[in-house]
Amino acid sequence: MHALSAAGSGSSQMMTITLQDFSGSSVPTSGIRRLVVPLDQLQSTYGRLLRSGVKILGVSNGLTSTAATPEQSPAGSSAPASPQPATTAKPARKAPARAAHGDVPVNLYKPKAPFIGKVISNESLLKEGAIGRVNHIIMDLSGGDLRYVEGQSIGIIPDGLADNGKPHKIRLYSIASTRHGDNLAGNTVSLCVRQLQYEKDGELVNGVCSTFLCDIAPDAPVKITGPVGKEMLLPDDEEANVIMLATGTGIAPMRAYLRRMFDPGERARNPGYAFRGKAWLFMGVPTTPNLLYEEEFQSYLRAYPDNFRYTKAISREQNNSGGGRMYIQHQVAECADEIFNLINLDSTHLYMCGLRGMEPGIDEAMAAAATARGLDWKTLRPQMKKAGRWHVETY
Ligand SMILES: Cc1cc2nc3c(=O)[nH]c(=O)nc-3n(C[C@H](O)[C@H](O)[C@H](O)COP(=O)(O)OP(=O)(O)OC[C@H]3O[C@@H](n4cnc5c(N)ncnc54)[C@H](O)[C@@H]3O)c2cc1C
Repeated sequence: MHALSAAGSGSSQMMTITLQDFSGSSVPTSGIRRLVVPLDQLQSTYGRLLRSGVKILGVSNGLTSTAATPEQSPAGSSAPASPQPATTAKPARKAPARAAHGDVPVNLYKPKAPFIGKVISNESLLKEGAIGRVNHIIMDLSGGDLRYVEGQSIGIIPDGLADNGKPHKIRLYSIASTRHGDNLAGNTVSLCVRQLQYEKDGELVNGVCSTFLCDIAPDAPVKITGPVGKEMLLPDDEEANVIMLATGTGIAPMRAYLRRMFDPGERARNPGYAFRGKAWLFMGVPTTPNLLYEEEFQSYLRAYPDNFRYTKAISREQNNSGGGRMYIQHQVAECADEIFNLINLDSTHLYMCGLRGMEPGIDEAMAAAATARGLDWKTLRPQMKKAGRWHVETY
């Protein structure tokens, strides 16, 4: 349902989609056009238009008309619009209720009695020339009851004792696999871990848990707690649009979502979830060799070009329009038209994950883009959050 649906009063409500440079098969191919559709057909029409590659400039509910359905009316088959710039739709006035997610497992294993998993494999995700160290670690969960869904995290308790002589405290890691695990057998969990390293008083300091995990050998036991988190869950809606903003290891939950959506083995395991919406991944890394899960994403692009879009921000290699380094917020700013058109739909969810430092830049980019459309990001973002469509997990 469209975000404007709350403004409508039933199926007689007509909506206007304004579009440009049409390349779809059902509509002529030049200029700015308006497509008038009944409210209850808005979402399907919008999705069809997006899939056809058209640029959607805006959606408005200014036209309450007795016009016939698109199939019958000239307006419905796209009428020429006046040449003034199209405005985007206003934000939702009333947010739908957030899903309760009561059936999602949480805290099955607590720090005092963790599950003891076993490392199956621990491999670098980076290519030659990359900065730092990021590993994909798969752990066996057999013999326990540690179930999870995409978007959750688990806790890891590293071996050894902290400086105070007590066991280390847990560190959380986003789960990078689907509920079925990378082997699809439902008995493993995968993590994407970056080794924390920093300099203090002239000395190199290695993060305790991230180093423990990046160094861990196959067959080693590992103390696992959780799962935790309901903030980053995927909607059940197979036609949802999912915009993902990830930096570095923030890709972990997105990798799980994308596997659920597009991996052939996953799709076979999920007869009730055949994703048909738009998934759009924005990925920020410093260099090309730092890109994570690149081969998987390229295979999804080949198999689902109408459903998956992938936009990279490679800060040390690309320049933004101002000539500076290309960070993820610059790509977001450059794609603001399309992002705003998508988030005007109630079926669109936006996920952000990665280092906490990414948040202000994204917020600034969204605020500027909102202002340019006569919208107030300070109002719109809480509305999206309340509606369960704005998901942030930064650390
Ligand atoms: C919900 C959630 C999900 C997460 N998911 C992931 C994930 O998928 N992958 C991942 O790699 N990490 C993830 N993290 C981060 C992870 O939990 C750990 O915080 C991270 O691995 C560092 O832990 P550590 O034990 O290695 O570092 P620690 O030994 O605990 O060191 C961290 C401490 O070092 C200090 N420090 C850090 N940087 C500097 C600096 N530059 N200068 C001086 N002091 C500094 C700070 O005091 C900091 O608290 C996630 C965190 C959360 C909360």
